[in-house]
Amino acid sequence: MASLRIPVPSASFLSPPPPRSPHLVHHCRPSSSSSRARTPLMAMASSSPPQLQELKQGIADFYDQSSGLWEQIWGDHMHHGFYDSDADDVSLSLTNHRSAQIRMIEESLRFASLLHPDSKIPKRIVDVGCGIGGSSRYLAQKFGAQCCGITLSPIQAQRANALAASQGLSDQVSFQVADALQQPFPDDEFDLVWSMESGEHMPDKPKFVKELVRVAAPGATIIIVTWCHRDLNPSEDSLKPWENELLQKICKAYFLPAWCSAADYVGLLHSLSLQDIKVADWSPNVAPFWPAVLRTALTWKGLTSLLFSGIKTIKGALAMPLMIEGYKKGVIKFTIITCRKPEQAPDV
Ligand code: SAH
Repeated sequence: MASLRIPVPSASFLSPPPPRSPHLVHHCRPSSSSSRARTPLMAMASSSPPQLQELKQGIADFYDQSSGLWEQIWGDHMHHGFYDSDADDVSLSLTNHRSAQIRMIEESLRFASLLHPDSKIPKRIVDVGCGIGGSSRYLAQKFGAQCCGITLSPIQAQRANALAASQGLSDQVSFQVADALQQPFPDDEFDLVWSMESGEHMPDKPKFVKELVRVAAPGATIIIVTWCHRDLNPSEDSLKPWENELLQKICKAYFLPAWCSAADYVGLLHSLSLQDIKVADWSPNVAPFWPAVLRTALTWKGLTSLLFSGIKTIKGALAMPLMIEGYKKGVIKFTIITCRKPEQAPDV
């Protein structure tokens, strides 16, 4: 791919929604296209439709190819673990890491005040960028909720539905191929909008955030856990060249467009009049994760499986040390951002 640092496109450049999956079940109501938000909040730059299509296809292929191997070793959560900031990573077992991935979900809910005894239990949840549905199934069971997951990868959607069926959850959770930037849901639908490590793939962050807000019901909680670059200092108008070069290499390996900072997300949420906006840098709490992923890739099982999992997966594995370097040098920030949609939504 020539350049994956795709700047934010204008909404009119967005490609049409992908075909609807046959796995859609009754509790995911489709939207009428007229209700979709179509105007970006700000256009940082422009990008061509072929570039966007190439990015989406790259993401779909990457996850189609790599999800089986990931699941085989790491299970059904395709996100970082959350650890005590003084955790000694070398002594942690794979079981510890898997527990840390569950802890990531719990800590995210706690940060958003959803574990508070007075908080309203979410009953309708959307999982935006759902992977093979680990978060959806966990949240549906925890809250007794209905959950709809969307992903660009047909293999992931299929696997997520199969896992739901095998766990007797088909009447509660469902998964389909759909674009987070044009979600196939009506306005004001969900009381928890969940995006766990998918925001970094979105080429148009204003449009992404606006879609999350659109499908959120009045009073709903929105949780975005995502990779950001560090906030810029007041004297800076961009990252340093070496920082951009590092991120460029990561973008190529993981099919990411341009990165933004936590401050950029907060600015977007403020511009949409969201309430209770909270942000935190959890980079110290995820530090053991990538070294652990790298270690599992370097085992005999990891290496042999990698060989058979396609060039995109191999390139992804080769980029793991870059993620470790990005965190160590403070360029990459593992960020949680939460907020609430006002009960009385202002016109946006
Ligand atoms: N949230 C999951 C998976 C994270 S991996 C988990 O925690 O296990 C990133 C996911 O984002 C993948 O499922 C990928 O298909 C999805 N994704 C990336 N861009 C997307 C887009 N534009 N629309 C929908 N899903 C997207």
